[in-house]
Amino acid sequence: MSELSGRELAAAIRADVTARAAVAHPRLAVVTATDDGGSAWYVRSIATAAAKVGIACDVVDLGAGASARDIAAALRGPAGDDAVHGVVLQTPLPAGVALEDLTAEIPPHKDVDGANPLSLGRLAAGLPAFAPATAEAVVTLLEHHDVALAGRHAVVVGRSTVVGKPALHLLLDRNATVTVAHSRTTDLAAVTRTADVLVAAVGRAGLITPEHVRPGAVVVDVGTNPTEDGGLAGDVAPEVASVASGLTPVPGGVGPVTTALLLRHTVEAAER
Ligand code: NAP
Repeated sequence: MSELSGRELAAAIRADVTARAAVAHPRLAVVTATDDGGSAWYVRSIATAAAKVGIACDVVDLGAGASARDIAAALRGPAGDDAVHGVVLQTPLPAGVALEDLTAEIPPHKDVDGANPLSLGRLAAGLPAFAPATAEAVVTLLEHHDVALAGRHAVVVGRSTVVGKPALHLLLDRNATVTVAHSRTTDLAAVTRTADVLVAAVGRAGLITPEHVRPGAVVVDVGTNPTEDGGLAGDVAPEVASVASGLTPVPGGVGPVTTALLLRHTVEAAER
């Protein structure tokens, strides 16, 4: 079994972004309204990674008490500011605030994490758009490790707007035959065992066990589930390594590529 690490690829993307950022001087704004510890850690990691590649990053932290109106106002600032090239709205949002009511505030040309429904619509229609960085990380990581997609059966477990649905379109664009499974799928293991390439984007530690995987399949683990000891566990049980021909590690697989692609989208937005 080969480990399909994302670290080398992420470093290569960051090196490219560093060179381009020195010319384009990109600026990213991240709006956050939560006291969720995992989210705070992720926002800090974006800000640190941005600083390292020469992207200015403004974090607007509204706190968990923010209303939809506060968040919309905080998004309109960078959305209308020509000096800001990328805008990200961090999740989770405060209880009762709907993500889909707010993402339309991010103009598509600054929507570097593909959150605006227009971006997903353009992606589905095969038009240029920023894809959500996590979904793009899945296919970019597979391509980096020379995993063939054309004509092969990809099964995506999870149908969220941020990962599962955009991953479906990106895999289809690469001529895979794609099945999307979810919590209402009957006999998940019977479906996932038909996959040449299995993508787990669920948010349940160890959901995918060896019985879900056809021997020799390639498995991409998007899951990032906090463990009691402060670490991270994927959606894929470690025993899957004995069945799969390739498996992405957690941490060190999809995660670092996701952050690197978010930065690449920001420099692309600044270059336009
Ligand atoms: P989400 O919005 O909660 O969606 C989870 C999906 O999994 C839903 O479509 C749900 O089905 C499905 N599901 C839940 N239980 C299931 C089961 N027992 N069998 C089959 N499907 C099941 O989560 P998300 O935002 O897509 O995130 C998924 C995972 O990726 C999480 O662990 C998250 O932390 C991680 N993530 C990682 C990165 C990264 O950079 N590495 C970035 C984003 C997210 P229904 O639609 O039927 O409810």
